[in-house]
Amino acid sequence: ILERKPEIQAARLKLPVVAEEQVIVEAINENPVVIITGETGSGKTTQVPQFLYEAGYAKDRLIGITEPRRVAAISMSKRVTEEMNLTEREVSYLIRFEGNVTSETRVKFMTDGVLLKEIQSDFLLTKYSVIILDEAHERSVYTDILIGLLSRIVPLRNKRKDPLKLVIMSATLRVEEFVENSKLFKTKPPVLTVESRQFPVTIHFNKKTSINYVSDALKKAIKIHTRLPDGGILIFLTGQQEVNFIVRKLRKTFSTRNKKKTANTKESSQKTDDSLRETEDTENKNDNSNESDNNDDDDDDDDFRCKEAIRYNKLRQKKKIQFPDINLDDYSVIPADDTYEDLIGAEDDEEVQLDEDEDEDDDMVDLKACVNAQPLWVLPLYSLLPSHKQARVFEPPPEGHRLCVVATNVAETSLTIPNINKASANQRAGRAGRTGPGHCYRLYSSAVFNDQFEQFSQSEIQRKPVDDLLLQMKVMNIDKVVNFPFPTPPDIVQLQMAEKRLTILGALQQFRFNKESSYNAKVTPLGRSIAAFPVAPRYGKMLALSHQHYLLEYTVCMVAALSVQEVLMEAFEMDGNSRNKWLRMRRFWAGTGNNLLLGDPMVLIRAIGGAEYAGAKGKLLRFCEEHGLRHKAVVEIRKLRQQLTNEINLNIQNLNLVINPEMKPPIDTEAKLLRQIVLAGMADQVARKVMPDEVNEDQDKAKWKYAYKTTDMEDPVFMHSSCVLRKTCPEWVVYQEIYETNKMYMRGVTAIEPEWLPKFAPSLCHLG
Ligand code: ADP
Ligand code: MG
Repeated sequence: ILERKPEIQAARLKLPVVAEEQVIVEAINENPVVIITGETGSGKTTQVPQFLYEAGYAKDRLIGITEPRRVAAISMSKRVTEEMNLTEREVSYLIRFEGNVTSETRVKFMTDGVLLKEIQSDFLLTKYSVIILDEAHERSVYTDILIGLLSRIVPLRNKRKDPLKLVIMSATLRVEEFVENSKLFKTKPPVLTVESRQFPVTIHFNKKTSINYVSDALKKAIKIHTRLPDGGILIFLTGQQEVNFIVRKLRKTFSTRNKKKTANTKESSQKTDDSLRETEDTENKNDNSNESDNNDDDDDDDDFRCKEAIRYNKLRQKKKIQFPDINLDDYSVIPADDTYEDLIGAEDDEEVQLDEDEDEDDDMVDLKACVNAQPLWVLPLYSLLPSHKQARVFEPPPEGHRLCVVATNVAETSLTIPNINKASANQRAGRAGRTGPGHCYRLYSSAVFNDQFEQFSQSEIQRKPVDDLLLQMKVMNIDKVVNFPFPTPPDIVQLQMAEKRLTILGALQQFRFNKESSYNAKVTPLGRSIAAFPVAPRYGKMLALSHQHYLLEYTVCMVAALSVQEVLMEAFEMDGNSRNKWLRMRRFWAGTGNNLLLGDPMVLIRAIGGAEYAGAKGKLLRFCEEHGLRHKAVVEIRKLRQQLTNEINLNIQNLNLVINPEMKPPIDTEAKLLRQIVLAGMADQVARKVMPDEVNEDQDKAKWKYAYKTTDMEDPVFMHSSCVLRKTCPEWVVYQEIYETNKMYMRGVTAIEPEWLPKFAPSLCHLG
């Protein structure tokens, strides 16, 4: 029934997976669970859904495919639509805020979070005939939970004589955790291995490993482009900022602006201009040659935003503040919907930390060669890049250009880019050699590779703080989390600590039927509200409590700012002049009365408020420079703020929260409530000032001026010099984090009143 285009059909036939079609389909027909492994690019993601479609699995139910990354869900659904010669009404995708699923959809790509959510409303997943869990080797938390849940759902569907097939796909051979785990699957599922790499890849190691692999990657790319024959270049880096940096540098080095003559067609020089303009979008602020104040995202809806903001402001002015305090029992307005999507594309957790000095390998960049080189078509690729821009990596470069893709590890395993045959940087050779022979340059020595790189990455469940995981699972009514059939269970001690923290927050409540039963804590209604927000539970609680006093716009701003690190430049990074100016500005932002007592979060609210105002006028970069804010952090905060705002609007009817570029500072009573809200979220991070009479005779009293006592530490912690409350050192505070240099320092400090403690942090009253 499918009528594929001849060129598509020809390309498919070259994929190793296609040779195994019959074996794969038969295995799935005959087994409830099948595992397929095959290196990246072998055709798993694009072909297996098509095999199952042609084998009749989409006749009256859906074929569902989960991806840990949104990028992959979108681009794979588009590619499969095209390969099958169907429309996106039939082959569709669904991610948290976006999708094109219709009643005609037969093949559905989605993020793993979306499928988890569907399980909550339809535990047996009756819409589906088969679920394919893709990229299982990535071991994302949600994929791991899905494997556990599906290991129970599949037998249940079998019992009902309405079988659901489960296919687990992995790019690595490390699948023992799924296969050999009898807690998971009673009968061992068959493992089908697809023949690997099609073309030889030569791996070149640097002789030595340098600290600055970003500049090494740049030099290496320049060398490849100026010295080696045709073929695309793919560079892997660890984060979006690095990608933008390298894109900008490469475009500058091989500027196509003065080379229009070499670009053969009119169309291609057009494109070239586009690409240059886009460089300016991704501009990094240390670049002096470009004064453009481009605000990164969606300026198109500015008009709309302003009107909404004015409307909202009027609404706000009308409101009355009736309650003196935050009411801990009033949060139920927010229904316990879920949200599982990760916040910011989780693409930069891998950090390469390496030793020693420069590579002696001839490092000089040959300027003449750069001027004479053929034009380089440089494209960035990372998960936050809009999908139409991502799609450009699949298009052929303009004539006469060499393609160079600079990517974070989104492309590491989930996407295969055609015509790339030279990979440079710190990731896998698998990406080279997909569509032709290739070279892989590793910017570290082979000794480092052998010693420091774990052969396989650890599962996310074992790395990430389990608070969020535990709460999400309790919301799904999985109470005995320790008994859950995880492919690899999280650490039990971590689970216990998380349970304690969540109980202090009021998200869980202990129901002890007998003394032995720990882990039996159940989620409270507050816990359900907390889980509705895609942020750490403590921030979720702040958001849940803010709604009652119309404080959401401040809390959203504050939570977004607190979730991003290093927003404000530190004193040592500033030169004398701007230091004084900026510190004065921060004291001004802190305000007086309750605003001042709100402390560092108040400064952040004002800083971000000001940045939004400047951004609405297209002056964000300058504002950041003049006020000592890190532009990248501010952009990140804006995205988070937008996402939280969307999320809350989805959950609360008729609220229509907007990001208001003219947000006024909170009035005194509001600031007081915000202090209570901060305490409610940070109830486990309370500190009390060390009193003079608690300091021993022989100790230097001056040193103890900024000392505080916390709940769980013997040693005192000190108020950091960046805190606006350092001048006054209030008696009781909560802090956002403790960090250690020569001493332990508190950062992100808010003053609280001791009489609030019994209500907001009952377990901590013994401190006083
Ligand atoms: P796997 O899942 O095993 O890593 P894929 O199914 O993702 O493999 O990729 C198979 C082939 O499909 C690759 O050679 C890749 O280049 C090609 N491909 C994927 N997406 C596109 C696209 N949008 N345009 C052109 N080719 C694509
Ligand atoms: Mg794949």
